[in-house]
Amino acid sequence: MSSAYEQLLDATIQHLEELKARGVRHVAVSPETLRALTQPVSTPLPKPSPPSVAKPPIHSALRTPHSALPQPVAEQETLLALPGETVASQGPPLDPQAKAAAFAALRERALACVKCGHLASSRKNVVFGVGSIDAPLMFIGEAPGADEDEQGEPFVGKAGQLLTKIIQAMGLQRADVYIGNILKCRPDTPGQSAGNRKPTTDEMATCIPYLHEQIDLIRPKVIVALGATAVEGLLGKTIGITKLRGTWKTYRGTPLMPTYHPAYLLRNQAMSEKRKVWEDMLAVMEKLGMPISQKQQNYFLK
Ligand code: URA
Repeated sequence: MSSAYEQLLDATIQHLEELKARGVRHVAVSPETLRALTQPVSTPLPKPSPPSVAKPPIHSALRTPHSALPQPVAEQETLLALPGETVASQGPPLDPQAKAAAFAALRERALACVKCGHLASSRKNVVFGVGSIDAPLMFIGEAPGADEDEQGEPFVGKAGQLLTKIIQAMGLQRADVYIGNILKCRPDTPGQSAGNRKPTTDEMATCIPYLHEQIDLIRPKVIVALGATAVEGLLGKTIGITKLRGTWKTYRGTPLMPTYHPAYLLRNQAMSEKRKVWEDMLAVMEKLGMPISQKQQNYFLK
């Protein structure tokens, strides 16, 4: 095998790995290139033509139907994202049975995941996610803690109980929404018997494709990102959470509201901080067209 060929192969693999890490699930390959790939290596490859790249109209991509099934090569597109954003490749929505089956299959894959050997060997449970797969609202945190690892369910510890209260204050139940994390395994803390650590960039990049598949199957109308680490994992390092919270972003074609992590509210009990999170939730309720009572409007006002 020529070294030029090996270099080309390495560069292609690296490029595809980077696209995959950014959540891109389909790339366009021309029929000529596909034909050429079936030729023996010694046959010179045709001069590569640039892939037909379609930049999606981000907003019109909202709710554009998509299929989890492979699409014909001619219809595949490489979807470009804005910096720090991934764009879902959407097809027609799956029928409820196919959606449930695809979600169950995804769950099975995640539960068996050993991509991060250190986390697979230290975890008690893979914490896949909980709630309705038809939920219009999805909450995304950073990673399971000790309680979540123990019980196999996200947000069940002290911060989780506060999140449940926030959801209830919105007039919803946990079962009405979907709750997940960027990381499905608890970040390990070797040599420590207690405490948590922030997931690394590599761990988040390795795990986030599962979350992308969850989002693409659920197709929530609104995503809430809980805390700085979740925002960083989803949008990349942007401005701090203090400036970012309360401002609408778009993630995979879906409106995303960054807000403080409930653990922050446990540490900082100031009414003003609770009100900020509550105002973010009021904006979410408005976006979802939910009724808002006068009592709800006034929560956490002095
Ligand atoms: N914090 C998170 O970010 N996720 C959980 O599941 C629990 C605590």
